Amino acid sequence: MEIQQLLSKYMLEISKVTNEETLYSALSGILKRVIEINALNVIRSNEIIYSEPSNVYIEKETFADYVPWVEERLYPTFLPLEEVYIGLIPIFKGRKLLATIVIKTNNEPTAEVMDYVQLLAYLSGITLENLRLLDFVDKAREYFESIINLSNDGIIVLNQNDEPEFINSKAKEIINIFPTIIDTILEHVYIQEEFFEIEENNLFFSISTKEVDLLGEKKILINVRNITSEKEVQKLKEVDKIKTNFIANISHELRTPLAAIKAYVETILNMPMSQEEIQEFLGVVYNQSLRLEELLNDLLDFSQLESHTMKILKERVNICDVINNSVISVSKMAEDKSVNIIVNCEDILINCDRRRIEQVIINLLTNAIKFSDPSKEEKYVKVNLNDTDNKVQIIVEDNGIGIPSDKLDKIFEKFYRVDNELTYSIPGTGLGLSIVKEIVELHGGRIEVESDVGKYTKFVVTLPKE
Ligand code: ADP
Repeated sequence: MEIQQLLSKYMLEISKVTNEETLYSALSGILKRVIEINALNVIRSNEIIYSEPSNVYIEKETFADYVPWVEERLYPTFLPLEEVYIGLIPIFKGRKLLATIVIKTNNEPTAEVMDYVQLLAYLSGITLENLRLLDFVDKAREYFESIINLSNDGIIVLNQNDEPEFINSKAKEIINIFPTIIDTILEHVYIQEEFFEIEENNLFFSISTKEVDLLGEKKILINVRNITSEKEVQKLKEVDKIKTNFIANISHELRTPLAAIKAYVETILNMPMSQEEIQEFLGVVYNQSLRLEELLNDLLDFSQLESHTMKILKERVNICDVINNSVISVSKMAEDKSVNIIVNCEDILINCDRRRIEQVIINLLTNAIKFSDPSKEEKYVKVNLNDTDNKVQIIVEDNGIGIPSDKLDKIFEKFYRVDNELTYSIPGTGLGLSIVKEIVELHGGRIEVESDVGKYTKFVVTLPKE
């Protein structure tokens, strides 16, 4: 066969090879057309990696000494050995040896065949190097894909049309349980938010997004982490802290009136006293026992709030009367703290639970007095009643210490108390406003708060008239 024909046949064969084995088999097939071959081995780093016929190995000692020399020269060599020849054909790319073909043949090749073999070795070198590179790339891709898919984080890449073009295994799992997550993430991306948390069905995800340049195109790389268990631990810790605070507060709240009662009764028992003095002391004892009763009522209300068993008994009530009665209840406390209470209301009849609404107003007034600002000369609480079509608004505004804006939405939570140097000595359980909110909502109303630290706090209770 003409050399050109052989070459084009070989090119056709190697265009089909997919791995080293098929390449050696194609090479052996083409070599056999120009030279008779008894056996063929391929060696790499001293190890036989291919043999034809299979499991037929040419005795190493017949050629081993020459291998380094051939590999150095990078040119085929045929060694005479009794009746046969051992051919050593290095396959290389540039100066890099990739493998060595060892053949056993009965004939010494001609110079023309040697040139041909050399050409084949050179062409095979290119193919072999490519195969190995492809194999390396495949393995590297598999390696990185495995890492990305084994990651505990969801990874999503969005293309320029904000459509997902890559989603790793974890992200697929997350999308299965939260199918609209990409849309939700995009809402944040559109307002330039890079790090945020989202919640869906009590599951929490921490998201980070980044605009990246991938192969010359702008993409969005999204990292999604399910942080539900971390959040649960955090919640448990918060509940624990709340419990500890509550026990500390409630103990303090109980101890203060109890200590007063104990001290006054001991004095009455152990000291000679006039009837008037005894009367006065008993007055204090009575007031302190009222405080204890209030505390118990708070706890009782709280348990009703927890079990959703609080009942509202509506009757026709003049809300201005309720306000005035509430003011009377707190007047002693206001006087002690030099807080002036200014009421502005007119008679309006509404349907409500008189006792509960009085409780709401007393609670708001008590807070306004408790959290008055000792550094201000004129301390006041203003109570206004607004009448609109079918609603009334009770507005309680003080010029006290105020509430930091980031705490405003928390103060209605159970046990929550703003904790700072201004409030730490002011007694309380943190239950009042959560009970107030529940009562107002049971009436079909709402409560809102507005405040500026050091300036004022304003609570607005809106109640339906009917
Ligand atoms: P408590 O008064 O027993 O602490 P509340 O539930 O009534 O509990 O109030 C929660 C918290 O809200 C208070 O601890 C206080 O920090 C804040 N707060 C409520 N009312 C006012 C007010 N008028 N001025 C300033 N802070 C207030």
